[in-house]
Amino acid sequence: MPSLRIDLHSHSTYSDGVLNPAALVQRAALNRVAMLALTDHDEVGGLAQAATAARETAIAFVPGVEISVTWASQTVHVLGLWIDPENAVLNGGLAEMRASRRERAVRIAEQLEAVGIPDSLAGASRYADNLAAIGRTHFARYLVEQGCVRNAGAVFKRYLTPGRPGYVPHQWASLDQALAWIHAAGGCAVLAHPDRYRLSVVQMHALFDQFKQLGGSAIEISGGVRSSPLRQLRVARQFGFAVSVGSDFHAPGEAVADLGEVAELPKGTRTVWQEREALPTAA
Ligand code: AMP
Ligand code: MN
Ligand code: MN
Ligand code: MN
Repeated sequence: MPSLRIDLHSHSTYSDGVLNPAALVQRAALNRVAMLALTDHDEVGGLAQAATAARETAIAFVPGVEISVTWASQTVHVLGLWIDPENAVLNGGLAEMRASRRERAVRIAEQLEAVGIPDSLAGASRYADNLAAIGRTHFARYLVEQGCVRNAGAVFKRYLTPGRPGYVPHQWASLDQALAWIHAAGGCAVLAHPDRYRLSVVQMHALFDQFKQLGGSAIEISGGVRSSPLRQLRVARQFGFAVSVGSDFHAPGEAVADLGEVAELPKGTRTVWQEREALPTAA
């Protein structure tokens, strides 16, 4: 196991994680994570608490966000790393996105009710500490609690995904908007988990091209067992991206990977954190 562990993708109770920002940082410290980013969905509210908690540890804390984007009628996620959480442009954009989550949740609950699952809005809300960030994971936890399905993974096979009850198509930010907000806040844009998108090879390449043109810095190499880091690394090189790594940790026992469990990179890989550290610091 390498001694220096870097994890630039994780969630707290400010979105769909189950640990509050301080508990998340403490778990990362126990897992010997040296550099950690908190990247809640469309939300930066937990960053100050995480940064404060990190000062009690040896962790270098990276303020981040995971922005939901609609691209070619599909949802893709863009991480903003090293962002200024106070930036007005970023906060304005994110606030608008959160405003639409509540309405979407109401419609998700209506669909679930129609297939015989009542009261899921109230049920999901119990799992959402931050109601403004309510999303499908909170519904998934409620469906598991109700015994409708075995676990969160199984929920997304039967419900909440395209063609299934509880899937409500949603218009998130555009790719241009997401990158504009991240750059306005002084951050680096990283395309999250590209291996998880249901896009054809041609579409993936169009996405990489557009992401590059908009000033995207890196693509994330997923650590999951089914992913192929080598192929992803080749694609990153081909398109001139640096790479990032992250566990996408949400909850102990629920996640594929725990904090700090990320893809191992071959020596000499261009990483987003090395490039960031080489940048001149603002005066
Ligand atoms: P939302 O932003 O409300 O659409 O929720 C997206 C979140 O749902 C993701 O960030 C994951 O946490 C979770 N999710 C989506 N698909 C799956 C899946 N197949 N298995 C487990 N969690 C999933
Ligand atoms: Mn999530
Ligand atoms: Mn994601
Ligand atoms: Mn995530």
